[in-house]
Amino acid sequence: MRYISTRGQAPALTFGEAMMTGLARDGGLYVPETVPQMSKAEIAALAGLSYEDIAYRVMRPYIGDTFTDDEFRGLIAKAYAGFGHAARAPLVQLGPNHFLLELFHGPTLAFKDFAMQLIGQLMQAALAKTGERITIVGATSGDTGSAAIEAFKGLSNVDVFILFPHGRVSEVQRRQMTTPAEANVHALAIDGSFDDAQARLKDMFNDFAFRDRVRLAGVNSINWARVLAQVVYYFSSAVSLGAPHRTVSFTVPTGNFGDIFAGYIARQMGLPIDRLVVATNQNDILHRALSGGEYRTDGVKPSISPSMDIQVSSNFERALFDAYGRDGAAIAQLMDELKTGGFSISQGALQTLREIFSSGRCSEDETLATITRLRDQTGEVLCPHSAVGVKVAEGHLGATPMITLATAHPAKFPDAVERATGLRPALPARMADLFDRSERVSRVPNDLEALKALVLERTGH
Ligand SMILES: *Cc1c(COP(=O)(O)O)cnc(C)c1O
Repeated sequence: MRYISTRGQAPALTFGEAMMTGLARDGGLYVPETVPQMSKAEIAALAGLSYEDIAYRVMRPYIGDTFTDDEFRGLIAKAYAGFGHAARAPLVQLGPNHFLLELFHGPTLAFKDFAMQLIGQLMQAALAKTGERITIVGATSGDTGSAAIEAFKGLSNVDVFILFPHGRVSEVQRRQMTTPAEANVHALAIDGSFDDAQARLKDMFNDFAFRDRVRLAGVNSINWARVLAQVVYYFSSAVSLGAPHRTVSFTVPTGNFGDIFAGYIARQMGLPIDRLVVATNQNDILHRALSGGEYRTDGVKPSISPSMDIQVSSNFERALFDAYGRDGAAIAQLMDELKTGGFSISQGALQTLREIFSSGRCSEDETLATITRLRDQTGEVLCPHSAVGVKVAEGHLGATPMITLATAHPAKFPDAVERATGLRPALPARMADLFDRSERVSRVPNDLEALKALVLERTGH
């Protein structure tokens, strides 16, 4: 199994190399050269298995010989042992033919834990074999950073730096990043938006001298290993509703397009998925692109679902790569045009995307009203991101069962939930002391040179 770049100019890599590399050296993202197929019989055989066993069977073909079968099984077991629910990703019913996939039972209460806990185990195991030390730098709109810090804190061969937009993450998110006491954890509050943080991160990766000097590794959702880990719960949930004998659809609250792209991969592997519905908040570049064909940035509007406050949706490049017939040069050109504001998707590519993806957007008022209504109708308390998903899904219900992804626990966004329901959702007991722990954070400018200097100094390079 080899991985190739969406811009066609970087060397093909193994799974282990792609995981350690993150962003390709031509600026592109790694994708599998060919997507492994699962037969109907193989999918049917997943019924009744544990989440971990399904994870093993779905991901094994992608790993190549980076790990042995037994190693990989052991790492999966460790990754999910800290989850607060025996099913890992339980499915609950909201109404006729509408189901909610609860992805918030991990250690930091958001779906990012599914990928980050696994990538933490995989990277540690890979580094233990070579004795190398790496520097992880991540940009976050809140949940990636807390999940990464939780997964990498205290690991001996890793320093982890997380850039988050100052003042634009929830207090629970911030505290999850700033309270771990381990010396290898560095929480950095940048003066700017998430897009600024992500842009500086990409700058660091594109500075090859710096990148090689500190052995930079990325854990943002551009990292293929993260996408892969998220493919698993599309299988586990679809199978529990009767796949492969029954087709299902998914609605996914979307920001960077990582989570929903994992659903696309599940579909490519043979899972019978009818529609993949992109649900956006008022930052609706993806909805505009899929409905009107124009992918154009127009500034980030802070919302009550901050983990989706994104204008440049990095993983969309992977979907475009397939929609443009895997033409790396065409993708490189589109990404050049994006630097000056945006591009038009070709008619052929748009048609290909629309065969699979639908989309919708949800306003701030609709998000709050959905939290209120769902609590009244079902007793389920949604976080604002999950509410965006549910609202958009409701416009796409039909004969095919719809599974909406609940991406975070309501207690991670208590202000919005309290506004909608009058009740402040409680943190699970295992993190009830979060507000008593002391914080450690560095305020940093939106400036590449200053950031590089800080990383060099803290890592002793
Ligand atoms: C990251 C995140 C999203 C968006 O996921 P993408 O993979 O970036 O599309 C949605 N909801 C929550 C709670 C998140 O943390």
